[in-house]
Amino acid sequence: MTNYGLVIDQERCIGCHACAVTCKQENNVGLGQYWNRVLTEGGDKMDTPAGTYPENGEDGTLEMSYQPTACQHCDNAPCVKVCPVNATYTREDGIVEIDYDKCIGCRYCMAACPYNARVFNWDEPQTVPEDGTGDVPARPQGVVEKCTFCSHRVEEGLDPACVVNCPADARIFGDLDNEESTVSKYIRKYQTTRLLEDRGTDPKTYYIRGEMSPGRPQTSDKMESELDDVSVWSEPKDNGPVEESGGSGGGGSHGSLSNDALPHVPAFEGGDD
Ligand code: SF4
Ligand code: SF4
Repeated sequence: MTNYGLVIDQERCIGCHACAVTCKQENNVGLGQYWNRVLTEGGDKMDTPAGTYPENGEDGTLEMSYQPTACQHCDNAPCVKVCPVNATYTREDGIVEIDYDKCIGCRYCMAACPYNARVFNWDEPQTVPEDGTGDVPARPQGVVEKCTFCSHRVEEGLDPACVVNCPADARIFGDLDNEESTVSKYIRKYQTTRLLEDRGTDPKTYYIRGEMSPGRPQTSDKMESELDDVSVWSEPKDNGPVEESGGSGGGGSHGSLSNDALPHVPAFEGGDD
């Protein structure tokens, strides 16, 4: 069975926010709202490093990296469990979606989601331009919305917009239940983490840390040949074998970020997230 998931290579991510911007454009996300945010790991504020500058002949200790974050499309999604009207549900392909006609705006799902992935339309959403580029339903005032893995694109055989438009090729999307998919191969080959694994949500976004991947395979001959080489990755490296079926379909993910370890979350004026 298909079970879609995402790999984000934090070693490749340059914090350009292109994924966040293209997400807003594709999905017509309202002003002040974000389905996809690029968090900063490092200093106390967005885009600031932690550590010290080089001084008096000493090396500095500056450190900063980025953690793009959106709905993790959890296999064991608490938002699905708490929705009293089944407006939030898991599709057969593993994507967690919202039926906006059913949503009564109770926001139980927002309280249940440990990833702060959902936003609420307190007002009629204001969007610029008026329509996004994607063929997505309009969301009215009084409902909750969030990332859909661009299901309207996935149904057409396309990758989510954030994946296609990442200039650093830091994002890889695919079927976690298919051992031959690129995401499965990446999870087998690289050391990965998942956010807040201790919450038991079984999130389906995997973050590569420690070693840079070759990036999202392109269709050029060069990248195609590199993709062919991916077959050698079937030898497990650090993460052990990918689960054969069920569950998240992903291999073991090393370490889990505790709540305390969540990186800096930028505050967006007027937004819900
Ligand atoms: S578009 Fe790619 S490089 Fe830019 S912030 Fe998003 S994941 Fe990072
Ligand atoms: S990240 Fe939040 S909104 Fe997305 S499936 Fe998990 S609990 Fe639900």
